[in-house]
Formats: sequence, C-alpha cells, structure tokens
Amino acid sequence: MTRNNRLLARSLVFICLLFLIFSAGNAGECVRSDFVIAIDAGHTKKNGGATSATGVSEYVFNRTVAESLIQELKKGGFTRSFLIGDSSLNGRAATANRKNASLLLSIHHDSVQPRYLSRWIHGGCTRLYCDKYGGFSIFYSQENGAAEQSILFATLLATEILKEGLRPSLHHAEKIEGENRELVDENRGIYRYDGLAVLKGARMPAILLECGIIVNRQEEQRLNDPAYRMKIVDAIQRAATAYCTTQK
Ligand SMILES: [Zn+2]
Repeated sequence: MTRNNRLLARSLVFICLLFLIFSAGNAGECVRSDFVIAIDAGHTKKNGGATSATGVSEYVFNRTVAESLIQELKKGGFTRSFLIGDSSLNGRAATANRKNASLLLSIHHDSVQPRYLSRWIHGGCTRLYCDKYGGFSIFYSQENGAAEQSILFATLLATEILKEGLRPSLHHAEKIEGENRELVDENRGIYRYDGLAVLKGARMPAILLECGIIVNRQEEQRLNDPAYRMKIVDAIQRAATAYCTTQK
C-alpha cells in the first residue's frame, strides 16, 4: 500500500466513523417542535369533579398542574403544546383531533367511593375525607384510536413518576360498584377503562393521569406543594420526550 493509499484508507475509516457517530446520535431523535402535546385539564369551573378533604374543587388542582405543565413543556422545546379549555368530553377529544395532536394527556385528581369517606371539621365546615388510599393512577382505553401506543406512553409515564418516589394506587381495581377497573400493570398503576369519552374519541395516543387522591388529607397537602407538583410535571416532560423518541 502506498503512503497515499494508506492516507486514503485512513480518511475513509475516519469518514465512516463520523457517519456512524452522527447516525447513532440521530437515531430516535425527538424533534420537539414538531411534536404536539394536548393537555386536557379535567372538568370545568361549573362542574369541578371531586372535592378535596379541605373543600377545594378538583378542577382547581387540574388547572394548576395543567398550566405549569404547559409552561414547562414549552420551555423544554415542546413549543406546540396546548391546553384544552373547558368543554364537553367529546369536544376535548375533537379539539385534539382537529389540531393533529401527537399525544393527549388528561390531568385529573382522584377520590374514592362514598363508602370510604368520613367526616371532619375543617375551617369551620364539615368536610369528607379518606386517608386510607393514596397515590397516582393511569388510565387508557382499548377503544382509543392508538391503544397500543397509549399503553406505551402510560408505561413510560408511570416509570418516570415512580422514579420521583410516588406510588400507584390500586383502589380502582377493587371489585365494588363504581370501581372494578381492569388493572393491567399493578406495579405501575395502569388501568384499562373504555368508558372515558376523552380517551375513546381521540385518534392519537391518549391517557388520563390521576395525579393523586385529594380526599386524603396528607396527599392533598403534598399536591398543594409546588415542589411536589413539579416532580409530576418533570416526570411527564421526561415521559413525553421518551415517547417522542420512539416515534422516529
Ligand atoms: Zn376527575
């Protein structure tokens, strides 16, 4: 091999190495600015969902998480993320469909069946609480337009939430009226529930996150703590990135 040929061979190897490194770096890269995340804040001002142990509407909790989530997603490069305003359940899915969302996440805060609620006095008012159950839950629908992908996102999200030290609640699987949901992943608190219109009507992968149980007095306090809330927001951001990466 002449000196020139050796130089040429080395250059080719170098170019191939550069190509490999470049390819590996780009494999599964998530283009955040192209990835549209629809965030649905559950319930409306008028019909606020559950009531917390201190008498605060679930809607207030949902909006607070959803608004800081949108802020953080945009800061993190998901610039086309948007918040779905108060509307009917079908209307929420329709909005996500119309805007061609890549992912739909519905934010909720949880309660328990009436049989588990007890009375206490808070701020001079009688309120209902239950300290027995706590933790997050995630729901997907098999009737959603992209059920398999919904399970994938649910798994990624639960994994990230677990890393933040939160634990799943399995109370929705109890075989009683109003619960009896199919628990598909016990370690990650993932349930199948086909009765949720917002998930069923969406063409894109869609899941519903119950961030925690607001009738639990300690958990309500935690959910009111901005640092605790940020753990959930950060976990969602990481899960969205991980999911987006799988879509290339
Ligand atoms: Zn709710």
